[in-house]
Amino acid sequence: MMNKLLRPLSLPWLMVPAIAVADVPSVTVDIPPVYSLVDQVMGELGSPKLIIQPGASPHGYAMRPSEADALSRADVVFWVSDDLTPWLPKVRKSLASGAVMVELMETDGTQQLAYRQGATFDAHDNHDHDHDHDHDHDHDHDHDHDHDHDHDHDHHNHGHDSHDHQAHNHTHEGIDPHGWLDPVNAQAWLGAIAESLANLDPENAGTYRQNAAQGQAELDTLINTLNDRLVAAPEARFIVFHDAYQYFENRFDVPAAGAISLSDASSPSPARIREIQTRVSDEGIQCVFREPQFNPALIDSVFEGTGVETSIVIDPLGVGLPLDTTLYPQLLTQLADGIVRCAEHSLTR
Ligand SMILES: [Zn+2]
Repeated sequence: MMNKLLRPLSLPWLMVPAIAVADVPSVTVDIPPVYSLVDQVMGELGSPKLIIQPGASPHGYAMRPSEADALSRADVVFWVSDDLTPWLPKVRKSLASGAVMVELMETDGTQQLAYRQGATFDAHDNHDHDHDHDHDHDHDHDHDHDHDHDHDHDHHNHGHDSHDHQAHNHTHEGIDPHGWLDPVNAQAWLGAIAESLANLDPENAGTYRQNAAQGQAELDTLINTLNDRLVAAPEARFIVFHDAYQYFENRFDVPAAGAISLSDASSPSPARIREIQTRVSDEGIQCVFREPQFNPALIDSVFEGTGVETSIVIDPLGVGLPLDTTLYPQLLTQLADGIVRCAEHSLTR
């Protein structure tokens, strides 16, 4: 009897994985890119649970019971920022879980950028009237949009009202929450994720840190590759659908000339569309990028017959990519692809 019980212990290579798996924390994340980074850090030890499913916009989201369950049972929750998901803090509070909460935009080494203003951004023009103009209209249109997420309207409008008030004061304090699109932020987050998991699961601390370091090194290579491609491409003049990409634009020095929507969460006003149309004709804009989450009919009707390339799709979340460690690097590669295709389009025009 004793002998039988002891036998497995004499085969430690069989026992170690079982013990390790039992100790691995239950991890829940918000969006697919964060899933990808956490999956990299967890490696063979496990995978996180995802709240916001691929294809859904994080700004307004109605959680399914299974997703609320994943949140309430988590040992640790990694999410980008309450500015990205203004409905999430209330949900977290109501669940009263004992989970460790890690808001990635607030972790050490994260570069934060302020939201840009106006359809064509502050940096590109100095018209004093732009702010008042845009925000009056955006305010009017707050109630029209986001028809897919009716039950979120309360949280949603609440978040946007406060943003509008800041904008009306012309003090632009809001931090743009799309920070994962800077791979240097992602490198910092890999380290933060590894440290949080190492604290919860000291036995596997070395594995988490090693996996994070490997992910950071791979991102170094990717940054160099994308940089070389974007530097070699001719200059691309493009407008994005929603202002989600400035972290990528900054890192690789490929600035957008404007955004049609102020955020995922607001539809463009007629005045904003006119401003974009003027810019397209005045400044030789080559491309207006689509996003899979948004109605393409709007772009078609606004830019029909202008010669502007409108068929290139980019997206900040990696819609359609496999949900694993490869999603994050592929997401960045797709953004670079879109910009390079836009630049090539201009050569054949
Ligand atoms: Zn967004």
